[in-house]
Amino acid sequence: DAIISIRALTKLFPGVTAVDEVSFDIRPNEFFALLGPSGCGKTTLLRMIAGLEMPTSGEITIDGQDMALTPANRRPVNMVFQSYAVFPHMTVEENVAYGLKVVGTPKAEIGPRVEEALRMVQLEQLARRKPDQLSGGQRQRVALARALVKRPKVLLLDEPLSALDAKLRDQMRLELTRLQHAVGITFIIVTHDQDEALSMADRIAVMEAGCVRQIATPTELYEQPASRFVADFIGRVNLLDGEVTGTRDGIVEVETRGLGRIAVAHEGPVSGKVCVAVRPEKLTVSSAEPTDAPIRAQGKVRDVAYYGNASHVFVEIAEGFELTANVQNRSRRIEGDFRPGDTVWISWASEDT
Ligand code: ADP
Ligand code: MG
Repeated sequence: DAIISIRALTKLFPGVTAVDEVSFDIRPNEFFALLGPSGCGKTTLLRMIAGLEMPTSGEITIDGQDMALTPANRRPVNMVFQSYAVFPHMTVEENVAYGLKVVGTPKAEIGPRVEEALRMVQLEQLARRKPDQLSGGQRQRVALARALVKRPKVLLLDEPLSALDAKLRDQMRLELTRLQHAVGITFIIVTHDQDEALSMADRIAVMEAGCVRQIATPTELYEQPASRFVADFIGRVNLLDGEVTGTRDGIVEVETRGLGRIAVAHEGPVSGKVCVAVRPEKLTVSSAEPTDAPIRAQGKVRDVAYYGNASHVFVEIAEGFELTANVQNRSRRIEGDFRPGDTVWISWASEDT
């Protein structure tokens, strides 16, 4: 049950493997994100799905059909580009109608379909305006309507929010997820922004150097990253190198360099050298020694970074070994509880690693 199947897909450019034997499926009506650092091959992968780039090897199947011989304009997909290009001399409705005209859609059909597309992105009221009479967010919705009017089975979006300022970006994130639910088609979004992927996608493929490192839901990726790279790329994390010294039902004992021997929750077999990951918000910072926390250590506050809703407290446990704790600022405080130089306790529960 896949709308898109990708098998051993590879793209070589002179001197670089942009996409390296990638295989995965995308389900119908899924909001799917390709996430990874700049240059990892996201755009190239998306362009191959769109038919704008020919694979060096491998297969792409869309809606049950092999795409090897299908040109871009005959694929049931549509791409919204990073720049959100719209024609400045055309009105909103002319912009949206353009793509239908060039493929010879009957005139009688164009009007209703443009209207439908404008309604989807809530631009019906602005149909007669020119792009320079629109806000940045509205121009983006014109570009979306231009793609939706063709009724693709899959909409491809390459960094659609990267050109917007922070506030508008937050708003468009929500609009895009709502739009996807409303139109009920598959969205594939490319982004290097983990917050964007986590907040919008049903599933995320994390890419590095042309390879897909993990595909999972946002919570799985965040709570159970499969590798050090994924843990580090998705959100902030404390990484502790160590070596397994024993296991018993669901608990692994690890001798760590920074914290000595600790017990961490882990399903499945594990041995040898490992990396323990703890999210900053799972750590508790206290002035008094916690009596019941299984994992704890004393240290000295090095820095406090205030973010309004939360603060990051950087605590040096030993020479050259620091843990970051995220402390929620729930109650209204004028002065932070912790200051550089304070001696504090850091603790967490085994199941939170
Ligand atoms: P991303 O979108 O993740 O930033 P890209 O898919 O754009 O990454 O690029 C992946 C790699 O392929 C990069 O090393 C990039 O320089 C290279 N690349 C992309 N397009 C071309 C091209 N047309 N010719 C040569 N190299 C390219
Ligand atoms: Mg790109």
